[in-house]
Parts: sequence; C-alpha cells; structure tokens
Amino acid sequence: MKHNFGAGPCILPQEVFKQASEAVINFNDTGLSILEISHRSKEFEAVVFETESLIRDLLSVPSNYSILFLQGGARQQFAMVPMNLTREGERMAYLDTGSWASNAIKEARNIGDVEVVASGKDNNYTSIPKTYHIPNDAAFFHYTSNNTIFGTELFDVPNSPIPVVCDMSSDILSRKIDVSQYGLIYAGAQKNIGPAGLTIVIVNNDLLGNTGRTLPAIFDYQSHIKAKSMYNTPPVFSIYVAMLNLRWLRLKGGIEEIERENIAKARKLYEEIDRNPLFKGPADLEDRSRMNVAFTMEDPSLESEFLALATERDLVALKGHRSVGGFRASLYNALPLSSVHLLVDVMQEFEEKVK
Ligand code: PMP
Repeated sequence: MKHNFGAGPCILPQEVFKQASEAVINFNDTGLSILEISHRSKEFEAVVFETESLIRDLLSVPSNYSILFLQGGARQQFAMVPMNLTREGERMAYLDTGSWASNAIKEARNIGDVEVVASGKDNNYTSIPKTYHIPNDAAFFHYTSNNTIFGTELFDVPNSPIPVVCDMSSDILSRKIDVSQYGLIYAGAQKNIGPAGLTIVIVNNDLLGNTGRTLPAIFDYQSHIKAKSMYNTPPVFSIYVAMLNLRWLRLKGGIEEIERENIAKARKLYEEIDRNPLFKGPADLEDRSRMNVAFTMEDPSLESEFLALATERDLVALKGHRSVGGFRASLYNALPLSSVHLLVDVMQEFEEKVK
C-alpha cells in the first residue's frame, strides 16, 4: 500500500475508491454506469441534493447562502469573483500570502482595480502578514486560507469592514469554520472534497445582482443558482464521488472529529521536523499549515537520498513544489495518522543512517 502525501489531486478514503468503482459498472442498481446516466435523471438529482445537504450540514451553511457545483477550478473563481461582486470602477482588496493569492490578484486586475493590503512576498511567504488596513469602500476583501505551496495557513477570519471572500481550496472541511463570517467561499474539489473537475462555491445571496454589468451567463453565479447547478452539464462523476467522500466524513464524526485528527497529524510531523537535526520548517511557527507541511533539509545535498528512502518505504509524492524545493507532506483528511507515523519513522531512520 502506498502512502500518498500528494498536494492535490490527493488521497481519498479507500472505501470511496471502491464505492466509486462499483458505481462505474452499476450505479444504484440501475443497471447503468454513473458515467452514462443523464445529469437530469431523478437518480442524479438525488445525488446533487444529498451532496448539497451534506455540505450544508457539515459546515452549518446558513439558509441564505447558495451552494454551487461548478467547473473551471479555483482559477476560474479568480475571475468569476471580481466579475460578480464588483461594479464598474469599484476596487477590491486582496491579501497576498503566496502563489495562489498572487495569481488571484493578477486575474482580478483584469477586471478592475486591486489594492493589495499586505504581502508576504518579501519574506518568501514564510509568514502571513498580520497588520494591514482593509479599505471600507472596496467591494470585498479576498484572502487564501491555506497556502498549499508555502505551507502556511490563516486560522482566524481577518476582521474586515467589507464582505470577505476566501479561497479555501486546500483547507475546506479540515476544521470548523463559521460560514456566516464570509460573503463567499470557493474551493477546487481536488483536496478534501473529492476528485478534480468540480469547484464548490458557497455564496451569500445578498451579495449578488448588484454589479450593474451584464455577464456572460456561464460566468454569472445567478444563472447557476437559478438552474440549481444544472445551467450546463455538471461534472456528474466528480459530484458523485464528492458525495461518497462527504458521507465518509460524516460517518467519521464530521468536522469536529476530522479537525482533531488533522491537529494530531500535523503536530506529530512538526514535532519531528523541530527535533530532527537534519530537517527544518521554513514557515513561522504560528502560521504553520495543518494541511501542507513544507520542510527542507539543513544540508540540501541529502534531499534526493532522503526522497529515495521514503519512496522505497512506499511514501509517495513528498517532493516540494518546484518554487520552494525540499519536501511537502500534504496531510489532507483522508491521510491516516499511521501514514504520518511512517514518515516520522523514515525521518528517524535517515537520521541514524547519515550519522
Ligand atoms: N488556490 C489554491 C489554494 C490551490 O491550492 C490551488 C490548486 N492547488 C488553486 C487555487 C488552483 O486550483 P485549480 O487548479 O482548481 O484551478
């Protein structure tokens, strides 16, 4: 068995893979594959209904928020958010905490004026800026709750006088959040939600319909709300697998239980990084991500040897992002604590080996 530390697409529970594969052959005893049924069939309508209910329950999404199942990834949201939430000439406020945040800023600038309230770029995004001013005349304030590449995470919602928009792609469903503190949340599915191809948007309905612009219907949240995420053909299989994964999460005890496990996994690994003289974690202690643990070696010339040993022990996808180097262990919901224990064992074995 492989232990998959990949950053996304990533590990999902084994039973989800099994149930999904069964539905590829015979979905719900219909004698049809999930891959061939109509998105407008009543069987699939039930899947969408259940997936939405699971998200609503797990995250306690208030009733005045819509939950949308879209395509185009989080990157499409980089454009859709400014298109749907700003009037012509209105500016937007962004916090720059890493590559994904700066990509979101770049895209927003194609739509309107962006004020970057603070940036972590000068310290190579190893810490999250804490002091900044959010202008109260901007349309919204955007931040990225978890920086998948640099391994930092914002646990508290910044205090904002304007609606908060959050790219929660890599930590949604990993810990408790209060949805009512946000105007809009979006996330590519391919970490804690399900397979790639699906994007979730959770939006406060009150924020929509005030732009004065006519948007292409496909990029207008209101088209998707009106059509209950069936404006165009939704990613049927991805939604189905997301439903299976959300059922798994609920059965496990929901967000409270998974948060406890995620804290335990991250603590175990960071403790070893801090103890083991061969390794170091570049992120500031208070900003360390629970989902993506980025770490390097004191002696970078040993990195390929460590990676080879880890691979030999069936620990895969540990190589750091090309812009950061070193290693990145992604500890998403479906990764068991036992895989983290194994990684720590290999780090200790390597320490002995190079002594
Ligand atoms: N935002 C964050 C925080 C991400 O981690 C990623 C992808 N890993 C993206 C945005 C881009 O997502 P997508 O590939 O779904 O467009």
